[in-house]
Amino acid sequence: MDQELVARMEKSLTDLKVEIIANLVASNKDFKEIVEGMDPKDLADIASDDIDRKTIEALGSQELKRLKLIDSALTRLQQGKYGLCVKCGKRIPQERLEAIPYALMCIECKTAEERRNR
Ligand SMILES: [Zn+2]
Repeated sequence: MDQELVARMEKSLTDLKVEIIANLVASNKDFKEIVEGMDPKDLADIASDDIDRKTIEALGSQELKRLKLIDSALTRLQQGKYGLCVKCGKRIPQERLEAIPYALMCIECKTAEERRNR
C-alpha cells in the first residue's frame, strides 16, 4: 500500500476518532467525566481500551463500536497490515477504504458475516 494513502487513512481515522469522542463527551455526562478524569492531552490518544467496560455497556453505543473499529484499523496501520482483510487476507479495494476508513474486511467476508449474524 502506498505511503501517501496510508498517511491519508491515518489522518481520516484519527479525525473520525476525535469526532466520535467529542460527540460522546457532548452527549454523555458520565463519559465526559471519564475523559476529564483521564486528563488527556489529546483526544486522539484515548483508546477505546481505556474506556471503562461498564461505560461501554451502559452507553451501548453504535459510536463506541465504531471507535473500536477505528482503533483496530489504527493498530493494523502500525503493523503494516492495514487494507488487508482480517478474514481472508485479501486486499480491500481502495474505494472501500476511502468510503469506510475503518473497514477491516473485504466486501465478500463482510457480507458473509452479516448473513451469518442474521
Ligand atoms: Zn475477506
